Amino acid sequence: MTTGGKHPRSDAVEPTRGPGTASRVSASHPSWRWLRSTRELQEQAFHVDFDEYKRDPDALADSIVWNHTALVVELSEFLGEVGWKTWSTPRGWVNRDAAVGELVDAAHFLANILVRLDVTDDEWERRYRDKQEVNRKRQANGYDARIGKCPGCGRAYDDAGVDCVDQRVSVGASDASVGPVTEIVRSAWCAVKRQAY
Ligand SMILES: [Zn+2]
Repeated sequence: MTTGGKHPRSDAVEPTRGPGTASRVSASHPSWRWLRSTRELQEQAFHVDFDEYKRDPDALADSIVWNHTALVVELSEFLGEVGWKTWSTPRGWVNRDAAVGELVDAAHFLANILVRLDVTDDEWERRYRDKQEVNRKRQANGYDARIGKCPGCGRAYDDAGVDCVDQRVSVGASDASVGPVTEIVRSAWCAVKRQAY
């Protein structure tokens, strides 16, 4: 993949436009933190009252929906700065500055959603690193998308917040060459559907 961009652009992209994108804090500032500064920006510049979302579930839902919509739009705009189309040549060019700008825009709306859910920088870092470790283990163990998932809700057993359990029960090893013989008494219990499969 090459960067540098021979893409003929008909529209100039302004990476810092739009609501929620006018941060004045500097990433080089040692005390800068992504979600805390997002929350401050939302409160101070956009007059968001986070307590309102605790009182009014509809306000929270509306806010999540428009931030989600904006996030998807920004991600689409990012693709517009990349030669990704399989049916068009050349491929692999990147208007790097504009592309990164669109991802910064997308990150604003992702952060907006996270702070509405009361996620702190510490929780985000912990959850993100935990998932990295899960992915590391999945790859090391040969991740198979067909196994390790609850048949009731389709979520992976090792994902955060998934309480569904695989209930295969080992009944002992009868042949050392093939390992423990596992009898499926009840294969899984889905915490979402409160049902065995
Ligand atoms: Zn489940």
